Amino acid sequence: MTPVIGLSCSTVPRVTMAGMLRYSLPCQYVECVARADGLPWILPNLDPSLVPAYLERLDGLLLTGGDDLDPTHYGQPPHPSLILSDPDQDVFELALARAAWEADLPVFAICRGGQVLNVALGGNLLQDVPSQVEGAVGHDQGRPAWRDLAHEVDIVPGTRLHGIAGAERVRVNSFHHQAVDRVAEGFLVTARAADGVVEGMEDPGRHFCLAVQWHPERRPDDPLTRDLFRAFTEAARGAMAPKA
Ligand code: MN
Repeated sequence: MTPVIGLSCSTVPRVTMAGMLRYSLPCQYVECVARADGLPWILPNLDPSLVPAYLERLDGLLLTGGDDLDPTHYGQPPHPSLILSDPDQDVFELALARAAWEADLPVFAICRGGQVLNVALGGNLLQDVPSQVEGAVGHDQGRPAWRDLAHEVDIVPGTRLHGIAGAERVRVNSFHHQAVDRVAEGFLVTARAADGVVEGMEDPGRHFCLAVQWHPERRPDDPLTRDLFRAFTEAARGAMAPKA
């Protein structure tokens, strides 16, 4: 049986048509799920009342990257550097993340997805790493070099992430100016960059609930990418309810 993996997506303005929105998701997320033998299913940002109906049909949830979550969701005024995401997207994804966690549905969260997961469960974010972290390493490697690796992360031994990566230090790409600050209750920080910025977290109290701040999907052929997506879809397969 193929586990059905829901993928969040972004609601973005269509630049050539003022006022028109569209859903957007880099194909790489979908491809990585498919390569790991999951069935990808993109979830539009609709009314949060639809979240339970979606979750009933999913075996795992992939929270994907995107623009900045509105900081009013964690009780902070906005930093001037923010590029806010669509407000309805924020509301839908927060509800989705919280409900998936409550249902112990396997969750894999990437970049903004991990930030959404953290805020949904009561944590908060560092709104602008370059101006708020002294001696910050380069966390935004820019577009021309998007296939490259940017900085190292140290992985906490004994964590799920450590088990998947099989190493205490890995080199990752980096496309973010925000990061998880205070992790939600029950979560562990699993990886940090040399400047202390959180690069991974997980909830050891859940079947599979793991977030990374880098973008494994942009390097689909990397062993670490393959192993992360495989661990996730295998957890989703293991959690599949027997069908009557
Ligand atoms: Mn980084």
